[in-house]
Amino acid sequence: MDLRTRTALFCAALAFAIAASVLLRGRVRQVQALFAGFAATVALWYLTQALFAFYGFSSWERATALLAVLMPQLAVRLFTAIVPRDAALLFATAGEAPPPTVRGRAPRLVRISSILGLAMAALVLSPYQKHDAVRVTLFVYVGALTSAGLWALSTTGRGSQSRAARARVRFLVVIGAFATAFSLADFLWFVGARLPPIGAVLSIVFLFVLSQSLQSTRLLDLYDLAGRLLVATALAFFIAAIFWIFVTLVGRFNTMYLNAVLASIAVLVLFNPLQAMVEEKTHQIFFRERFDLESAVVDLRRRLAHVLETREMTEIVMSGLESSRRVTSAAIFLRDVAASEPGGAAFVLEDKIGDATKVVRIEEAGGRLVLERLLRGAVVAEEVERELSDALDLGDAHTAAQLRELHAQLGELGGGAAFAIKTEDGEPMGLLVVKDDRVRDAFSPEEISLLETLAGQLATVVENSLAYMRIKERDRLAALGAMAAGLAHEVKNPLGAIKGAAQLLAEAGPESTDDEFIGIILEEVDRLDRVVSSILDYARPRATEVEPIDVNAAVRRTMQILAPAHEDQVDVTVELAGDLPQARIDPEQLRQVLMNLVTNAVQAMGGRGRLSIATTFRRTARATWPVSLANGAVEIRVVDTGPGISTKVLKNLFVPFFTTKATGTGLGLAISQRIVQNAGGTIEVQTTAGVGTTFTIVLPASGPLPTTSRTQPQAAEGAPASGV
Ligand code: ADP
Repeated sequence: MDLRTRTALFCAALAFAIAASVLLRGRVRQVQALFAGFAATVALWYLTQALFAFYGFSSWERATALLAVLMPQLAVRLFTAIVPRDAALLFATAGEAPPPTVRGRAPRLVRISSILGLAMAALVLSPYQKHDAVRVTLFVYVGALTSAGLWALSTTGRGSQSRAARARVRFLVVIGAFATAFSLADFLWFVGARLPPIGAVLSIVFLFVLSQSLQSTRLLDLYDLAGRLLVATALAFFIAAIFWIFVTLVGRFNTMYLNAVLASIAVLVLFNPLQAMVEEKTHQIFFRERFDLESAVVDLRRRLAHVLETREMTEIVMSGLESSRRVTSAAIFLRDVAASEPGGAAFVLEDKIGDATKVVRIEEAGGRLVLERLLRGAVVAEEVERELSDALDLGDAHTAAQLRELHAQLGELGGGAAFAIKTEDGEPMGLLVVKDDRVRDAFSPEEISLLETLAGQLATVVENSLAYMRIKERDRLAALGAMAAGLAHEVKNPLGAIKGAAQLLAEAGPESTDDEFIGIILEEVDRLDRVVSSILDYARPRATEVEPIDVNAAVRRTMQILAPAHEDQVDVTVELAGDLPQARIDPEQLRQVLMNLVTNAVQAMGGRGRLSIATTFRRTARATWPVSLANGAVEIRVVDTGPGISTKVLKNLFVPFFTTKATGTGLGLAISQRIVQNAGGTIEVQTTAGVGTTFTIVLPASGPLPTTSRTQPQAAEGAPASGV
């Protein structure tokens, strides 16, 4: 058996297999049936060639020629049957006339080809069949008709309204052209040319690609197929070259077996790196955009790992998707926590890019179809369209109507593709919607699952943020409780005293003129008044004077006022930085803060110990400071040698009404902190049991800053001398 016969048999088997695989793969529509018929004819064509080569009967040759007449007939019908259904046609309602298509040309071509086919069949069956002129005519007939079929297909494609359909048809035309070209090259044998049977093998390869292309409606899958084919072809050539080098060049020394072994070893060693290299290159060419999205999502997921608040999460996702340049619009909807009665979840638009999203709120009723389907997995617009096309084919009007509604709802949300942000138990927390309106079928299945994992991580962030909010709320309620208890105590004491005094006054009768009870009442009313003013101070701090002030001067003045109040045994030192910038704070309020801190310190030391007050400039901000302190800060430290503050007290130090003193109001530090925070600063505490406590008032520096951060201490004039 010669090489051509063997190849023909091999190709016949493959073509039969391709025909069978198309028929066996689920629902067979007209296109699939035509393709299977075409592939079977190709198979028979190769088979009759092989049989003719075997037995030499001229009837086999005639059969080959007849099959050659039949082949382009099927090709033309196949190519004219591939009319992609336009999205516009899918959504036309029953009454509307479908938009015009260029289908009109196809039947004419089919009619002409039938007439030509009959004429050719007559010619082939005539006694002149063996004439060269007849063979050449047959060759021209096959070439012309197949090309005309391809031409009709490409015209149909160009007339389509869908960009994806146009691209898909272009792909099919190119593959079809290759298959035709290789088949014709092979056909040259029939007209007498002596060529190696390489065309036969390649035409079968393209027949296979064509079968796959017909099956797949997604353009990206087709690119994937083309990419794989390219990888396989490139690898095959590499391996063939290696074999050729070893077996033909080196094989001259007649050690065929050894050379084949060497060649196989070389192939085995080189196969993996070669495959990896070729795959990487083809992926870079075909799937560049997919890599862009993949790296964007990986980066997003890394950044989301530490996010606790949904606002920050939304910002990160939107900016990440925008900079990936793989979506033209995107939106995040989150569940409206306030409106989540059972069965009535609503979702609110948190943020969006692009203008595809038309709604700001999804009510259960309006988005029911999308929401229901989302719980089963991602909803992709093109998939819905394909399902709709199937439903129309099957005449299932109910499903078609539902799918149309689903498509419309998805369109309102701005999708492309929508993903549920749902908890592990399937509870919907929100939606992520993305769209790339530059292409249809913009996201491959891998990209869809990539975005699904992103939505999964968003669900985790949303859940964490809810837990975080609950903790914050609990802390707030605890603080409120402590404050209420303190307030009750503060009000109850004077009220008790007033009641007692009033009762005694009442018992004494109307003539009584006991000033003592009236004095108590007045005193307690004053105390109540102070409590109420303090609360007001805390709740509504006075508008601050915004002029920058000299902090050293304010410290000096406060210490002068406080000096007479100190007990004898308190050793006071004041150390003021020479080159201190100004700070923006109301001097009266600053004095109030300083007085609170100094009074607390003296009280903590029980009137005996060392108290030092110092001012400094700090150029570099600490990590815990608010941004208002980023340009450097003026610090006022109040250091005492008291007993220090226990952890329990430390936790509540700034809580209003928290006090450990019998006569304390517990408002001093709370108000001080309010004042300093309003000026853009903060109060810090450092304490060591048995050693003492340092309160530091940190204020944002204002005006010209000193050139060096090291400042010379300045003599504190007017400050109380030590050991007063
Ligand atoms: P009050 O002085 O009326 O108790 P504050 O808000 O000024 O209210 O202080 C709250 C509590 O903080 C005090 O009762 C005290 O226990 C604690 N405290 C404040 N300053 C110091 C300090 N320098 N050393 C030890 N404990 C302090």
